[in-house]
Amino acid sequence: MRTPLPALTGSSPHNSLQHQRPKRQRLWQPKRALITAASLEHPHTETIRARLDELNVPTTLLRGNAVRGIKGESEQETYRRAKSTLVVAVAPPSQFKLQPIPPSADYQFHLAQGCPAHCQYCYLAGSLGGPPLTRLYANLDEILANLSRYLEPGREVSFEVSCYTDPLALEHLSGSLSACIEHFGKLEDATLRYVSKFSNIEPFLDLEHSGNTRARASINAAPVERLEGGTAPVRERLNAVRQLALPKERGGGDYPVGLVIAPIMPGENWREEYTKLFEEIQTALDFDCDLTFELITHRFTPKSKTVLQGWYPATKLDLEESSRSVKRNKFGGTKYVYPKNVMSELRDFFEEELSRRFPKAEILYWT
Ligand code: SF4
Repeated sequence: MRTPLPALTGSSPHNSLQHQRPKRQRLWQPKRALITAASLEHPHTETIRARLDELNVPTTLLRGNAVRGIKGESEQETYRRAKSTLVVAVAPPSQFKLQPIPPSADYQFHLAQGCPAHCQYCYLAGSLGGPPLTRLYANLDEILANLSRYLEPGREVSFEVSCYTDPLALEHLSGSLSACIEHFGKLEDATLRYVSKFSNIEPFLDLEHSGNTRARASINAAPVERLEGGTAPVRERLNAVRQLALPKERGGGDYPVGLVIAPIMPGENWREEYTKLFEEIQTALDFDCDLTFELITHRFTPKSKTVLQGWYPATKLDLEESSRSVKRNKFGGTKYVYPKNVMSELRDFFEEELSRRFPKAEILYWT
């Protein structure tokens, strides 16, 4: 058992937001778990079942693989049921044909689908259909073995594992991300990237990762954090990144790390609010480390707006089309982004501030 590293003390003037931030990490405790028949054929299911038993989560073995009984009388009831249910299932064959995910990585793959948190802007709203169930994949061995088909000796291939879920949100129930980090630790010319709004990184600190995993946290200014129900406070996420990045001799995990600032929103006093966030980052990462930034502005689609307003009818999230520009993709899809002048102002501010405060860090992209 590791001695926990000292957390940030809050004594720095940079920590002035502390009192405005939520106070503690809440790990998800599903109300019930449904285990599909097919998942019983995979040894990882036993690991998951043992962890669920330890947490006293009631589990039901399904006769088949279909999940029924989630739809409620209202959309709100369906949402509540889905968000409190864990399904242990087998990843479908379609997920073994890996898709590119620019600009983040060469390929995406999935350890789970869905997320138990309640972010009012959740990017999964427009991409995953049906009730927002969390499905944890039992065929972990097959998922990891499949990656070898995409390796190219002599060229570094990158893999993103957080497109359909927040993998840390489920780590205490599965250990899947730990297994994945260790798997990449043994690979050559392959890197793993994950991003999370959770902070339970303790199991990762002693893993043999060989520097092949970039551990990233998704963070935001305090007003946006208030839209992120059920996640760890940003302060804890930053402390987790600090622990992951610290060298081994200081008790850390010695990981390359990253900060994804998303979704960037130019709300009231946005310069001041993001300045406070930058100061918090400086406090957390007050030592040399391999750090990258990814900067993603808020956007929505007609579909995600409808879904999000069904899930969060009282949301204060700005989803007003008239204040946005329309962007069309090559398949005819529409998304609403900030107008060009707002984008330029935001981009200049972020790039100038981050380059000045973190001259050794790389800004990977702005979108
Ligand atoms: Fe969605 Fe990520 Fe929030 Fe989970 S943590 S609800 S995936 S935005």
